[in-house]
Amino acid sequence: MNSPWIAPEIADADAAASAPGAAARALKIERETHKLEKRLCRQVGQAIMDFGMIEEGDRVMVCVSGGKDSYGMLDILLKMQQRAPVNFELIAVNLDQKQPGFPDHVLPAYLKQLGVPFHIETQDTYSIVKKVIPEGKTMCSLCSRLRRGILYRVADELKITKIALGHHRDDMLQTFFLNMFFGGKLKGMPPKLVSDDGGHIVIRPLASVAEKDLTRWAAHRAFPIIPCTLCGSQENLQRKQIGNMLRDWEKQYPGRIESMFTALQNVVPSHLMDTKRHDFQNIRTTGVPDPEGDTAFDAPELPAPSAPGGMQLVQL
Ligand code: SF4
Repeated sequence: MNSPWIAPEIADADAAASAPGAAARALKIERETHKLEKRLCRQVGQAIMDFGMIEEGDRVMVCVSGGKDSYGMLDILLKMQQRAPVNFELIAVNLDQKQPGFPDHVLPAYLKQLGVPFHIETQDTYSIVKKVIPEGKTMCSLCSRLRRGILYRVADELKITKIALGHHRDDMLQTFFLNMFFGGKLKGMPPKLVSDDGGHIVIRPLASVAEKDLTRWAAHRAFPIIPCTLCGSQENLQRKQIGNMLRDWEKQYPGRIESMFTALQNVVPSHLMDTKRHDFQNIRTTGVPDPEGDTAFDAPELPAPSAPGGMQLVQL
């Protein structure tokens, strides 16, 4: 029988053991899982290097919520720790917000079994939020603010040098579109930045990792997932809509997510309209041809990244 914590293909591997071709199938699953693990490690390692996320002697606080993303982050960082060219410590931290039904034994048992140093901070923010926010209104903004304050304090107490959060590539893109559609800003979610209180460095080691890979990894590793709906708050509808939009785009135009993610790392301020980022007032001719200069007419057609058949207009 398949468990919801076990990927169907992994669970099916045993069941299929006596079926014709079972060995070949099991081998294929093993290879796919190995490729997934390599990809996760490569992407996390690359992001750590590109953005200078972890340095010699760092004490990294790995924020673990009980969701697939943070379990995946801890798992991959533990692998990185074995092979990294620098020495650093990992301290898993969970905030028990006293949400009704939160299974507070799950994370300590899991972390103990992993052998990773950890700290569980218990603070009843749930009651505070319930008291302050009227019934039916979304509680997330106050809840996140309280959680942030507590995590910063815990980071100080544990002498933490980096706070690692489990946001992934799809979160980064969703945030980018949320800011553009509803905030009038070209602004994403940074892979590394100083915290809003100015006192901590926040890093996102999963910045380049696709959510679907984390889902597969969580199933393969059978993480003891704690549901994230215990607070009873409404999901952020706007974020959900953006997530659906991105998934639909990717289905229709495979490769679009990858292209958008690459674009976040290739910003050309002279081709945007922010006078704070580019000095339009003092533009002068140089007489020197510049491939980044204005092409005067319509942009040439661009190839859709992985679309078969070569050149075609990138459609919206
Ligand atoms: S979903 Fe619940 S726990 Fe998460 S931020 Fe919102 S109120 Fe807090």
